[in-house]
Amino acid sequence: MTRPISILGATGSVGASTLDLIRRNRDQWRVVALTANCNANELAALAREFEAEIAVVGDESCLADLRTALADTAVTAAGGRQALCDAAALPADITVAAIVGCAGLRPTMTAIRRGGAVALANKEALVSAGTVMTAAVAEHGTTLLPVDSEHNAIFQCLQGSRIADVRSITLTASGGPFRGWSADQLARATPAQAVAHPNWDMGAKISVDSATMMNKGLEFIEAHHLFPVGLDALRIVVHPQSVVHSMVEYCDGSTLAQLGPSDMRVPIASCLAWPGRMETPCAPLDLAAIGSLTFEAPDEQRFPATRLARDAAHSGGGAPAVLNAANEVAVASFLAGQIAFTQIALVVEETLDRYAPLAPSTLDDVLAVDTEARVRAREIMETAAIG
Ligand code: NAD
Ligand code: MG
Repeated sequence: MTRPISILGATGSVGASTLDLIRRNRDQWRVVALTANCNANELAALAREFEAEIAVVGDESCLADLRTALADTAVTAAGGRQALCDAAALPADITVAAIVGCAGLRPTMTAIRRGGAVALANKEALVSAGTVMTAAVAEHGTTLLPVDSEHNAIFQCLQGSRIADVRSITLTASGGPFRGWSADQLARATPAQAVAHPNWDMGAKISVDSATMMNKGLEFIEAHHLFPVGLDALRIVVHPQSVVHSMVEYCDGSTLAQLGPSDMRVPIASCLAWPGRMETPCAPLDLAAIGSLTFEAPDEQRFPATRLARDAAHSGGGAPAVLNAANEVAVASFLAGQIAFTQIALVVEETLDRYAPLAPSTLDDVLAVDTEARVRAREIMETAAIG
């Protein structure tokens, strides 16, 4: 029996890790849809290799190249925002939602509404949509499996237990490449330094988020929606070795943790095989070689992003969508060399101060908040109303 699978964001880092696992177990899977934003040749090569039913580029201007590259195959080529959703709606057992940013929200919601299982990597979609997404999961009986390593760890630690028995959940954070840096050094940090993560090999946007600690802030909000223990029971601890991927403390004083190598194929495999297990080629954990595991409190003076995210989570309503949209815009500007590293959090904070929309209750509401927050964040950067 082969399982039909679709991968949204197939050309990215999570997409590549997913396809690596499928490549090793080809007889068990049938690839339905593969999508990318523009990278037509790379997407075509993957669609050809995995004999996908359909390959979709979100950016319609790349469709002609995709068609040419797939002309001699049976793969259907499509392009545009609607085509991404159409592909996400095709019948599949499991969809890996691995588009980066709020751009993945509509296709991810389409997969959720189709039902079946959705392995969610696209944390920005859940942060922005929050209860709009979790309500759709409940309404359609969808199984939402967390790909993000921390949430996957928590998900595993919660198996067989009641959420009411949880006292606290602790998200671990590597601290990113700038963990020991001074405020002066941070102000001069370059995009090349920010994307060079010590433990994980990831896309550019999440690498910058990891350097600012906004990644942990987004994950805090993500955890709040996935595991309803209440915001006050969610904690963050810096753990530079990235071996303990997160922990759940129960009311009896027991803490369960999930450990593993810093390789996304482990949490992805856990989603693909859930509730079973599958082999991965990852090097086994060698704790004696690692020697020591250390933990420290986050420094919210140098890295204010986790404070901003926690405040946005407490505010609720549209605040998390504003936080996320402003962060996406600011990170893109930092990567383009237009603002300094330390201005990313300032743009986010200023956008949150200036724009407090009503709570979105539909997907269109969420997208409207996202669009408006981007406009405000750009205005703030253009008028240099930061720092
Ligand atoms: P990436 O930049 O490597 O890949 C992103 C993918 O999304 C690519 O296939 C790209 O073509 C596609 N894409 C980008 N913009 C798009 C758009 N506007 N429309 C349609 N498709 C678009 O990113 P990544 O590191 O693989 O991360 C993907 C998601 O997974 C992010 O939300 C990230 O936070 C999350 N995540 C990643 C990791 C990791 O190790 N990389 C770990 C945990 C969570
Ligand atoms: Mg993570």
